[in-house]
Amino acid sequence: MKRIRVGVAAAATLLGAVTDAVAQNSPDWTEPFPPFRIAGNLYYVGSKGLANYLIATPQGLILINSDLEANVPLIKASIEQLGFKFSDVKILLISHAHWDHDAGSAKIKALTGARYMVMDADVPDEESTARGRPGAHVDRVLHDRDTVELGGSKLTARLTPGHTKGCTTWRMRTRVAGAERDVVMLCSLAAPGYRLVNNTAYPDIVADYRRSFERLAAIPCDVPLTSHGSHRPPSEPAAFVDPERCRAIIASSREALEAELARQSAAPAR
Ligand SMILES: [Zn+2]
Repeated sequence: MKRIRVGVAAAATLLGAVTDAVAQNSPDWTEPFPPFRIAGNLYYVGSKGLANYLIATPQGLILINSDLEANVPLIKASIEQLGFKFSDVKILLISHAHWDHDAGSAKIKALTGARYMVMDADVPDEESTARGRPGAHVDRVLHDRDTVELGGSKLTARLTPGHTKGCTTWRMRTRVAGAERDVVMLCSLAAPGYRLVNNTAYPDIVADYRRSFERLAAIPCDVPLTSHGSHRPPSEPAAFVDPERCRAIIASSREALEAELARQSAAPAR
């Protein structure tokens, strides 16, 4: 899936973590990063540039995102470093159907036997064997508001389309610094190189983005987590609690989208 660097630079700079504005494989995508506990039974097991989240339960592990195939050994090492077994990954989820978050899915399924659960509109891209697609069988098709449960932990899938048609924002509640908090693993909100005007492959792209921003603004969000890196283990878990940042990410992504739409509307692509 070829994408190009575009004029969402302001948002990209501000958000870094939340956008896919850098199109080519970035060197930090495959740069190892020490795993760490975010809060409760939620851990970071990603590389420096690509985020993976792990939910550890007494009945096994839930892993979010598979990344590039080259990342699979890094994810495995991070899980083991935390004292868990890679073979205990029972459920594999993704943020969305782009190769930097899903190319390793078939490999992880083969190594762990995990059940793959994907939002309906992204399923065809997961099962596709086209170049750059994982060709991974989806075991459970998800719809907006479906829940994924394992060993007493529950994640809720919210459809937040635009970046992809099945872009999925994952919600869970967990204890952070003594209080129950809403953790929100935001799907990517950028429109890198996307045609927003006269997009025949995705005619509703702008309406979908706008609906997603409305939806996200209404979701309680204490702990925003994104699908790219820029993660740093803080000195204490309470540092992750940042509702302001959550609102800022959504607001500036919305502004970037509208600015890009205005730019493209002024000079429509032919
Ligand atoms: Zn993406």
